[in-house]
Amino acid sequence: MPRRADAPGRGAGAAALPQPDGHWGRDLDAGWLNPAYVALGSNLEDPRAQVERAIDALEGLPDSRLVLRSSLYRSRPLGPVEQPDFVNATAGLLTALSPAELLVELQSLESRLGRERPAVRWGPRRIDLDLLVHGAERRDEPGLTLPHPGIADRAFVLVPLAEIAPDLLVPALGRVRALLALVDDSGVERIAP
Ligand code: ADP
Ligand code: MG
Repeated sequence: MPRRADAPGRGAGAAALPQPDGHWGRDLDAGWLNPAYVALGSNLEDPRAQVERAIDALEGLPDSRLVLRSSLYRSRPLGPVEQPDFVNATAGLLTALSPAELLVELQSLESRLGRERPAVRWGPRRIDLDLLVHGAERRDEPGLTLPHPGIADRAFVLVPLAEIAPDLLVPALGRVRALLALVDDSGVERIAP
């Protein structure tokens, strides 16, 4: 079950937005927040710890608030490269950052968490942070495609995304739960709350 990002380990809870309180908005100075969803993946050097560390680090993003975090999932790798299983998760943010600004932040987080670039496409990686959706944005620019082009055919994205946002309308694609129904999710297994 999805849970409030600021209540780790306190069991299942509804996927509700946090109520304003002393903490809420502390580091947000803009008046307009967009929901944004991020996919996390790792299959090197204790992938589970890498993903947990990355989700925790999302809490420190500027002008943003981590609202939802999925469970962790194990998934079999796709593509031609022989490599270890992945650990995947998704997170939901509210952010005043633009899509380009948020992607820069995610890439700098990847670097800080030790990802070496350029990684082999489809190959093993210590941490991968992809921007799945940013509000209603649709873009196809060199360096930034929104919604992320891999969403519709990646069970390892849709399973954790459906946990935190089953009714999310992915621009141009449809609702997450409907997209999930169209993929084979047999290679994705929940491993931790
Ligand atoms: P992968 O496709 O396996 O995630 P990388 O993480 O190395 O591969 O990303 C390759 C490129 O994808 C990056 O240079 C980045 O600019 C680009 N990219 C385009 N759209 C997005 C997006 N929505 N989220 C993350 N990266 C994106
Ligand atoms: Mg990536």
